[in-house]
Amino acid sequence: MFEHVLKIMESCPCGRRHTLLTEECVVALDAEEQMQAYIAAKGWRNPLIVADDNTKQFAPRLTALFPAKLTAVDGHAHATEIWTAKVGEVVNAERPDVLIACGSGSVHDITRYVAHEHGLPFLSYPTAASVDGFVSGVAAMTWHGQKLTFPSSPPVASFANPAVFASAPALLTASGVGDVLGKYSSLFDWRVGQILTGEPLCEELAALESEAIGELVEALSRRGEIGEEAYCEKVMNALQISGLAIQLSGNSRPASGAEHHMSHLWEMHRLNETNDGLHGEQVGVGLLAVVRTYHGALADGLDYERISEIDPRKVMDRAALEPVFRDLTDGILRENLPGGTPESSSLAKIRITPDTDRRLKEAEKLLPSAEAIEDLLRRAGAPTTCGEIGLDGSPAFLEASLRYAPYVRDRLTLLKVLMAAERSREA
Ligand SMILES: [Zn+2]
Ligand SMILES: [Zn+2]
Repeated sequence: MFEHVLKIMESCPCGRRHTLLTEECVVALDAEEQMQAYIAAKGWRNPLIVADDNTKQFAPRLTALFPAKLTAVDGHAHATEIWTAKVGEVVNAERPDVLIACGSGSVHDITRYVAHEHGLPFLSYPTAASVDGFVSGVAAMTWHGQKLTFPSSPPVASFANPAVFASAPALLTASGVGDVLGKYSSLFDWRVGQILTGEPLCEELAALESEAIGELVEALSRRGEIGEEAYCEKVMNALQISGLAIQLSGNSRPASGAEHHMSHLWEMHRLNETNDGLHGEQVGVGLLAVVRTYHGALADGLDYERISEIDPRKVMDRAALEPVFRDLTDGILRENLPGGTPESSSLAKIRITPDTDRRLKEAEKLLPSAEAIEDLLRRAGAPTTCGEIGLDGSPAFLEASLRYAPYVRDRLTLLKVLMAAERSREA
């Protein structure tokens, strides 16, 4: 599948030039030796390994092969302004020439952010097949309470050893599966953007993602037969492909839609006090709710007249948003009106044509049924309901989540369109 990535970079029918800053993406049992050779070839002499309490146990696999310093943030890493400041201090004191993210998603986001801030390269050493963000070029951070993505450096290379990440707690791998399956709705939402607003969609990147999901689903069905290490390797491959697709696309469009907005909303702690869900667990729960909503709405028939009358001014109504988003309302409005005016909202770009309904129904065929998604999540051992991840399990909470999640990003999704059409009518 990595060959497919190279082919897309050579030439793409979409006409865009897709580039990668990540030179190598290794998933192999000799990953550490390959990292050692890479570091030697680059002439780096002072690597700094960034880990947390859970993942520093894997650092000796690296320091046995080459000299490196280690900084382990206390406890379980969280990608916040507090952690990046702590690692930044160590970087100022140690003056490393390369950083190594030794851990799962949050350790990578912290490292990626600090590397970018200090103009340093970084290497990725994933210790769990839990998220698709290892090789991506955006850092997903919780910045002063608001969930934001920052443009930052992707790793110059990634080295993952199945013997390491297959030993991670099973719920981390299950979470990775949730993140991969989330691409079903991400890809559907991308098509919705293309159909409703003429947003560019690269068929090659969409095919690459679909291929990665397909391989994972196949591995899931043969899990007992192929064994856990091979299964975890398939999960990691799919996650790495997804991360590379984000880089090739230049944004997270191929890998993040309404299902991710649900997860981001829960992490903003405005509808809920706290939640215990891992990123991919939340994405899986969000995915199931979103897919159910999409098939339901498309079966009922979309009200195109109402959709074409959506007024971003009514949707982005401060008085309606403030009771929910409170101190984050300014940030939410800035995000949704990137140019400061209603015309800058993604909703203002919607154009309904006589072809719209046919094209949406065509796109819907690529979206599995809610039952099929639920079955895949269960087989992976991933949660399927809000209650299972420490959120309010009531239908009212899920409804409120579906209603407010689209505000997390300006990105157009079918969920955003459905919510906005409803809002425009009420206001
Ligand atoms: Zn393309
Ligand atoms: Zn994700």
